[in-house]
Amino acid sequence: MSFCVKCGNEAENTLDGLCTECFLDGRKLVTLPHHVDLKVCANCGDFGQGETWAAKDTLTAVEDAAVRSLATVKEARIVSAEASSEEQEPFTYSVRVDAALDINGYPAEGAASTLVRIKNTVCRRCSRQLGNYYESILQIRANPKAVSSKVIREALNRVENLVDSHSVTNRQIFITKAEEVQGGIDIYLSSISIGKAAAKDLSDAYFAETKEAFKLVGQKDDGQNMFRITYLVRLPDFHAGDVIQFEGRYFKLTRVSGGGAKVVDLLNFRERAVKRSDMPSFKVHTRSEDLREAVVVNRNGDEIQVLHPSNYSTVDLNVPAGAEISETAKVVEIDDVLYFVP
Ligand SMILES: [Zn+2]
Ligand SMILES: [Zn+2]
Repeated sequence: MSFCVKCGNEAENTLDGLCTECFLDGRKLVTLPHHVDLKVCANCGDFGQGETWAAKDTLTAVEDAAVRSLATVKEARIVSAEASSEEQEPFTYSVRVDAALDINGYPAEGAASTLVRIKNTVCRRCSRQLGNYYESILQIRANPKAVSSKVIREALNRVENLVDSHSVTNRQIFITKAEEVQGGIDIYLSSISIGKAAAKDLSDAYFAETKEAFKLVGQKDDGQNMFRITYLVRLPDFHAGDVIQFEGRYFKLTRVSGGGAKVVDLLNFRERAVKRSDMPSFKVHTRSEDLREAVVVNRNGDEIQVLHPSNYSTVDLNVPAGAEISETAKVVEIDDVLYFVP
């Protein structure tokens, strides 16, 4: 037990020789600088402080900026802080921060005010994007006679979704530009890692062949070589939804993935898994977008009656047990025989 040098009372713990009450008496516990600068990106509208950027509404960004600048005496720990702000003039807010503190287990309070000034700038991501910065190019190519432009657009969509999901945690990931070219599309990407991830994703999703090519484009400040990588992704002629020929039978290709493919036999509607190594022997019979629609005139258990889409004769077709049949059914004609495509 010691005594406070100011009031003489007994104190369990002293701070600079003072009891907690005397230590707190008249002392400014928290401070804020006269003003705090908050950056806003004129291009994307995100707010930044230091090197950290995030999408926020203006008042939240203003109050966060003030709270983050709050300093305390070294004996205190901030338990919580609440800010309230008022716009003084355009782009300048006065902000008061009220903080709950803990000093040696003794609760205390402190308050301070500052001016938060919003400054227009362009964040690093936007300046790179606006400057056409890129580190990799994804070249998606397909045989134009076999693969429709719809498939190419769908592949572009996949890449856009992948980039979106990565950019949530990494602001430096973006698509610089996408250009349609003869036989496909070129997608310029801000990083090598996202180019590699997109190439792998397309390879799994489409059974696409991929190749990569390095190009030395210069040296970084630290003398390290800087590369650009081009990922060439060649889509195969077959695609989920197509009717294919495989091992002498006809199937609907229902799924392509990194592990292989799923196909459904058009004769008995049994599903079958096909290994990736067997997939190169798939031959497209009819692309999904070229399948015909036949008008359904009757249904009887596992059979439907349709009008042949070419000659309008009535044809009986087997359908899978429990299949949902609407007013029309997808069909394919193989060697003069019509099949229902599930
Ligand atoms: Zn005292
Ligand atoms: Zn920006």
